[in-house]
Amino acid sequence: MPTRHHLDRVGAAPERRHAGWPTPVTPSLSARTLYKLHHLLEPNPVYRRLAAWLERSPAANRMFTAAEERVKGATFGCRMCGQCALPATGYACPMTCPKQLRNGPCGGVSPTGMCEVEPDVRCVWLVAFERAETEGRAEDLSLLQRPIDHRQWGQSSWVNYWQGRDEGMWVSGDGRRQLPIIQRDDPGVSS
Ligand code: SF4
Repeated sequence: MPTRHHLDRVGAAPERRHAGWPTPVTPSLSARTLYKLHHLLEPNPVYRRLAAWLERSPAANRMFTAAEERVKGATFGCRMCGQCALPATGYACPMTCPKQLRNGPCGGVSPTGMCEVEPDVRCVWLVAFERAETEGRAEDLSLLQRPIDHRQWGQSSWVNYWQGRDEGMWVSGDGRRQLPIIQRDDPGVSS
């Protein structure tokens, strides 16, 4: 779950914020810069060994996770869900959506693109689309994001990424044409 630190940070302006609700955040770095920087974090044997070592070393893992929280909190408003969607959302964090929607905006976006819950803040999903589109990555937003595992709140998403736990987090290709697993024909289920 979000830490106290997160709730304090996202609720920093109580006269405008809904207490404890996330607030849409526009990243402080450009999408172009972040797509480039992402290559530095791609899994490799060194990162995988580091991730495995961190998971065996609770104190070091806590320090590493705190550093990630600080960096990503300042840049993206990261709330440490542990399963990072940023590469598929133009690096706009969907968990800063007050409704925490991971598959696009709700129906409450104003005609001028403002959030329904925080009307003076731009909808994070519009921010995501605009940022992805400028880099030719708008199609990323058609990926179907699977529900997150809420047990991973507060974990390092970098460690989870290097450990391969993000695989399958979204449906590749045209997610709109793929049926959710629950709807696939199952010969073991009689009608
Ligand atoms: S780890 Fe989760 S909360 Fe943090 S930036 Fe990524 S998607 Fe957002």
